[in-house]
Amino acid sequence: HYRQVEPADVEELGRSSWTLLHTAAAKYPRQPSDAQKQEMRQFLSIFSHIYPCNWCAKDFEQYIRDRAPRVDSRDELGQWMCEAHNDVNQKLGKELFDCNFWKKRWLDGWE
Ligand code: FAD
Repeated sequence: HYRQVEPADVEELGRSSWTLLHTAAAKYPRQPSDAQKQEMRQFLSIFSHIYPCNWCAKDFEQYIRDRAPRVDSRDELGQWMCEAHNDVNQKLGKELFDCNFWKKRWLDGWE
């Protein structure tokens, strides 16, 4: 039996994608090798091309062009990702997230 579920809409796709992106940043090496930095840059670039919401992808692509992903460490990538997400939050009129707490939300847990 297959469960009856709907295809992902833009909201569900977004929540799932942010989970992937922030968790990837949270698990990113503290001291990445040059190869790992290059892979993360390439991943984000390709992600911005294939993200299956066209207008979202266009804006994310532009964001990456304006503010190159900071891939030199876990902390820098986590901050960058948080700022990128806040840029979308702002565009959508959502509350901004305090980036001092990204690691609690996506790695350590609140308590
Ligand atoms: P989400 O914004 O999905 O956030 C999920 C959880 O992440 C939150 O509950 C919170 O705990 C945490 N969080 C929130 N902000 C931050 C932050 N700054 N840093 C760390 N954690 C945070 N939707 C559109 O309608 N138009 C777009 O152009 C668009 N562009 C997108 C571009 C990308 C790259 C992605 C991944 C998604 C995009 N979305 C877009 C989807 C949108 O960002 C939301 O995912 C969607 O609206 C659902 O929002 P939500 O309120 O459930 O929480």
